[in-house]
Amino acid sequence: MNAASQPAVLVTGGAGYIGAHTAKALHEAGFLPVIFDDLSSGSREAVRWGPLIEGDLRDRAALSAAMAAHEITAVIHFAGLIEVGRSTLRPDLFWEVNVAGTINLLTVMREQGVGRLVFSSSAAVYGQGGRGPLETIVETAAKAPASPYGDTKLAAEWMIAAQCRAYGLTAVALRYFNAAGADPSGLIGEAHEPETHLIPLAIAAALGDGKPLTVFGQDFDTPDGTCLRDYIHVTDLAAAHVAALKADLPAGAYEAVNVGSGEGRSVSQVVEAVSRAVGVPVPHSIGPRREGDPPSLVADPRRGRELLGWTARHSSLNEIVADALRWERNPAYGAGRRDPANRRKSLTPT
Ligand code: UDP
Repeated sequence: MNAASQPAVLVTGGAGYIGAHTAKALHEAGFLPVIFDDLSSGSREAVRWGPLIEGDLRDRAALSAAMAAHEITAVIHFAGLIEVGRSTLRPDLFWEVNVAGTINLLTVMREQGVGRLVFSSSAAVYGQGGRGPLETIVETAAKAPASPYGDTKLAAEWMIAAQCRAYGLTAVALRYFNAAGADPSGLIGEAHEPETHLIPLAIAAALGDGKPLTVFGQDFDTPDGTCLRDYIHVTDLAAAHVAALKADLPAGAYEAVNVGSGEGRSVSQVVEAVSRAVGVPVPHSIGPRREGDPPSLVADPRRGRELLGWTARHSSLNEIVADALRWERNPAYGAGRRDPANRRKSLTPT
């Protein structure tokens, strides 16, 4: 415990998109988030609710010093490389950071007697393996990652599960579906460089400061022909981490939990929601499919409810888009970052 008697939680990657929102949620729940981040893609401005220690996961001594200095009681592990396309070009680097980096973290946790971990995993562990096109995904579904990025998330999950059995670590892997939206304060939000995600691109197109949107395919086997995804508000995602941290689980337990709303929304529905929120049509055209895009990725969210008492509360498309738009319009943050004279580092999710 630190001086203020708030249990300190190490948040690796806490300067990134989901990490920063989770740091805020931890603060609000009475924890002290201690951020460990190399700022390679996260942003110093997003660290507002606890101290920042600049360091790389691959540097075991730095991790060890950070944990010892702050009497860490638990770890939430976001830090990692996330760009699927880049993972196909640099699989070695992805394994080094996402898998070897996680081994480092677990080793230091064991050395210092820190027995609780929440790990950022991804719906990318499922791929398209063995389900019908519109089936929701349960945690026990076949795992068939379609990229080296997904491979590293699944490998890290397996390794964490084995260390739970071997050493009595207690861990929850949260498999994120499509993180979206921003904190309603407008202070923190999504900002990738380059931006590739649908909602910020659709907003930028509607605001007239991005390129027109290309819809990647309208010939999928879905109700309106465009892809279905499960968009989850980043505030709901952050709450899932706090719930996972606090869940009453025995020593040695390992659990993997989907973090999604359970609702599939199509690209066309997103375009309509953004048009409504901004008040002008989103300029867009229909393009070819993007390689590797499955028609539908929608969570079965029951396990999160049963195990963590967590459920999505802010993940209607309207609420996600309204909060994302507020962030994009904030001149100091979203809008500011689009000004080349004021370009800053992105807040990258894991
Ligand atoms: N998408 C699109 N145009 C874009 C970016 C994304 O049509 O410029 C579609 C993409 O095919 C997918 C959905 O929007 O069906 C969400 O894509 P995103 O990259 O945001 O997240 P992903 O599901 O790939 O993690």
